[in-house]
Amino acid sequence: MPQSGTPQPVTPQPLSQPVPHPALSAADPELAALVGAEEQLQSDTLRLIPSENYVSAAVLEATGTVLQNKYSEGYAGRRYYEGQQNIDRVETLAVERAKAVFGVEHANVQPYSGSPANLAAYLAFAEPGDTVLGMALPMGGHLTHGWGVSATGKWFRGVQYGVRPDTALIDFDEVRDLARKERPKIIFCGGTAVPRTIDFAAFGEIAREVDAVLVADIAHIAGLIAGGAHPSPVPHADVISTTTHKTLRGPRGAMLMSRASHAKAVDKAVFPGLQGGPHNHTTAAIAVALREAAAPSFRDYAHAVVANAKALAEALLARGYDLVSGGTDNHLVLIDLTSKDVPGKVAAKALDRAGIVVNYNTVPFDPRKPFDPSGIRIGTPSLTSRGLGTDRMPLVAEWIDRSVQAAAKGDEEALTVIRTEVAELMAAYPAPGLPTA
Ligand SMILES: *Cc1c(COP(=O)(O)O)cnc(C)c1O
Repeated sequence: MPQSGTPQPVTPQPLSQPVPHPALSAADPELAALVGAEEQLQSDTLRLIPSENYVSAAVLEATGTVLQNKYSEGYAGRRYYEGQQNIDRVETLAVERAKAVFGVEHANVQPYSGSPANLAAYLAFAEPGDTVLGMALPMGGHLTHGWGVSATGKWFRGVQYGVRPDTALIDFDEVRDLARKERPKIIFCGGTAVPRTIDFAAFGEIAREVDAVLVADIAHIAGLIAGGAHPSPVPHADVISTTTHKTLRGPRGAMLMSRASHAKAVDKAVFPGLQGGPHNHTTAAIAVALREAAAPSFRDYAHAVVANAKALAEALLARGYDLVSGGTDNHLVLIDLTSKDVPGKVAAKALDRAGIVVNYNTVPFDPRKPFDPSGIRIGTPSLTSRGLGTDRMPLVAEWIDRSVQAAAKGDEEALTVIRTEVAELMAAYPAPGLPTA
């Protein structure tokens, strides 16, 4: 009997089936089993969280390379460590590809994630206590746009704009009035629950009028922009902040892009202002993802993401669902479940049991509390990456509808039936990067 705490022997695998993660399985079977279970879950379920995706096998491999072993504080050609012959070239590739894909003069690929990237923008262009203008979190904005519980709302004076009650669209009269009255150092546009096109030109005009730095946070829509399925913030924004792991379909990471005139301020803020050594394995995977994003097939993917979201929205409307702003222009649909008498959290948990992964979300002017809001947020990047097309969206809407109805009635059996149907369909659409059965 092995003592408790000592590793259990690994179950021998039949030779015809290679162990997916042989070293990990041998060294840490417990952890390997969890990775295997997650692979199964990502394979069997319909993943509708709009900020998630499936990266390619190439991106996945890049994140698991020995580049992870290197310390590289500084930037290519000006490092504080020796041995950067290859790392400098990796980072330069990522930077040059980012500049080409997004048509920008400067790119910094070192931010660890979207939130630190935004914090670097504050460090570059504002002082603690300065006023910043961003979209309110419950209206679709991000925590880091000056919301109270975030460091950005504690260390800076966050002023927030919202959407119009009648249209759920950004109220540019409100944005302009607030900007004129509050004179923010930075204006953030973009968000996490915005189903409509961001009017970067309108924000740019307001920012110039009040002499504010406009940061376009394209975390959610970067892939759509790269693929030509959403207008670009260039040349309206001074700085563009993005994650690399959402619609852009790269590793978990972020980038800050800007005009050449802001390059120094941006770079200084990321390092040494905020971070130490860059995550070189992530940088490599960003470079791979950007190479993929430059290929013609990525344009097809980006347009398919939007076409799927529009088709899904239509099918939900046909089933009597209320959608915030009445539909979508991008990858995201925000469903207001008030008329269905099912709270967002109850619906989200029921959908999860049915093998459909979403998140509960506030809707603008939500009468319910943020941890128990009225809506669910769904999106089409992941299912598009698996190859589902618009012809499948009526079925997806049907599953959502049946799950919500089952949630209302407490019908667990119906959820189990849907889970089987979902797994059956998903088996026909193998996910990128996952081992096939
Ligand atoms: C996801 C997101 C972020 C934060 O990204 P993390 O990588 O989760 O820190 C910032 N801004 C917007 C608009 C986002 O959607």
